[in-house]
Amino acid sequence: MKQHARAHLERHLAVRPVWRCRECAAAWPCPAAKLRLRAEYAHDRPGLAIYLCVLMHDAISDRLRIDPDGVDPAEYFRRFIGWTRSSGLCLTDTAMPIRSSRADTRA
Ligand SMILES: [Zn+2]
Repeated sequence: MKQHARAHLERHLAVRPVWRCRECAAAWPCPAAKLRLRAEYAHDRPGLAIYLCVLMHDAISDRLRIDPDGVDPAEYFRRFIGWTRSSGLCLTDTAMPIRSSRADTRA
């Protein structure tokens, strides 16, 4: 990544407690922040997920102080961590043999 592009992306930081980007005002992480994070953690996706998990916890704590009824955990997960998945697969996507209830009733 070129120096000026990196400098541009480094300005896209979260403003707390609202967790909006101080540069583009989008919900953080904004697209530019995601680009920067993907580059920084290109060889450490688990590290990126752990880092964002900590930030998600901070964002939820901030939101609970501002609006105790305004937290949707699933939305926070999608916003902070969901985008880091490269394949789109999750644990429930793994193929597991499922026995049908009809098969279970056979004697
Ligand atoms: Zn931004």
